[in-house]
Amino acid sequence: MTSFDAVTVIATKRDGHELSDAQIDWVVDAYTRGEVADEQMSALAMAIVLRGMNRREIASWTAAMIATGDRLSFPMPTVDKHSTGGVGDKITLPLTPLVASYGVAVPQLSGRGLGHTGGTLDKFESIPGWRADLSVDEMARQLESVGAVVCAAGSRLVPADRKLYALRDVTGTVESIPLLASSIMSKKIAEGTGALVLDVKSGSGAFLKERADAAELARTMVELGNDAGVKTVALLTDMSTPLGLTAGNALEVTESLEVLSGAGPADVVDLTVALATEMLALVGIADVDPAEHLRGGQAMDVWRAMISAQGGDPDAPLPVAAHRESIAADRSGIVRSIDALAVGRAAWQLGAGRARQGDPVQAGAGVQMHATVGDPVVVGAPLVTLHTDTPERFSAARATLAGAVVIGAEDESASRQLILDRIVTLER
Ligand code: URA
Repeated sequence: MTSFDAVTVIATKRDGHELSDAQIDWVVDAYTRGEVADEQMSALAMAIVLRGMNRREIASWTAAMIATGDRLSFPMPTVDKHSTGGVGDKITLPLTPLVASYGVAVPQLSGRGLGHTGGTLDKFESIPGWRADLSVDEMARQLESVGAVVCAAGSRLVPADRKLYALRDVTGTVESIPLLASSIMSKKIAEGTGALVLDVKSGSGAFLKERADAAELARTMVELGNDAGVKTVALLTDMSTPLGLTAGNALEVTESLEVLSGAGPADVVDLTVALATEMLALVGIADVDPAEHLRGGQAMDVWRAMISAQGGDPDAPLPVAAHRESIAADRSGIVRSIDALAVGRAAWQLGAGRARQGDPVQAGAGVQMHATVGDPVVVGAPLVTLHTDTPERFSAARATLAGAVVIGAEDESASRQLILDRIVTLER
């Protein structure tokens, strides 16, 4: 590979010019090998945040990231879902077994959480005995036998992203459409899924708060996926309000089990069913109502098999936090809004999330809401319950939640549009 000079590459982007494919291939590879230093990649990432990248550069950057590691492939048709992350976003838990209950293989390589959005693996790891680290062979065997697998991405899957994402996290360079799109899609393309449904969030609890930015991210990722031969569609969904009534690992598993039992909060059920419908359509299964497999128990049967296959006990009681405190409603009325970011931060402060990679999380910690947008509440009744093993954390979480739940007049109505748009690319 031709060698370039990192400072020239940084200055090219800093001055608002396009990077060539050769410059991109070199800098991504050289950074992964340690030849380009962290401080140089930080400067380049910030130049990308400020100057952006065009479609060619994003496609080239994504391909260069994939080329730093291995690509998996599965012998059967597969479909996956990826969410850009949000507060209370437990959808992978009911969705994966639900789609697999239609005989479709669902490989979900997931991550641990950092900051206010919880990580899917942290939620599963609150189930006693469950193991996230599977070899590629174990993953393939489980896809064959159970149809569904959720596990950690191995260190050979896009090593460039592993390094770059950790750097972006501490340099204020996460919120960039080219960097978000290439990070997410490099992993999904390398994972070898045949089809992909993206759940792209906008609102206070999302990476991109503005709907127009989230729509642009969705379009970029849909194009990257389809261009790489992965059939990709995206739903643009609301993340101004938390999903469901819980944020925190074991609390979210409990809520997911309610959904798998045919009950659970309407927004979690609706989004699970909408994403399942899209995933099934991508592999040619149309005219089914996935809600039937939630009510009928087929999705729960796959859940139990999937948890057992990874060493978990689906019947074991889930961890509960040692301490609880409730916050009461200060007036009667209708819940008008709940700020997702505040709820996510409070759950994190209570111990559900981590400040640094590798920190432990508390399985039982988090925020449990007793009402969502549009629900009536009565003055003095519990509005939110805080859960933690370390009660000295309560005061910070209470302060974060001050004003986060807005209660309107009793005769007011409030509702939420959960699915904002559906994004597909036109045939070219
Ligand atoms: N998740 C990812 O995989 N990458 C990002 O850049 C942000 C969230």
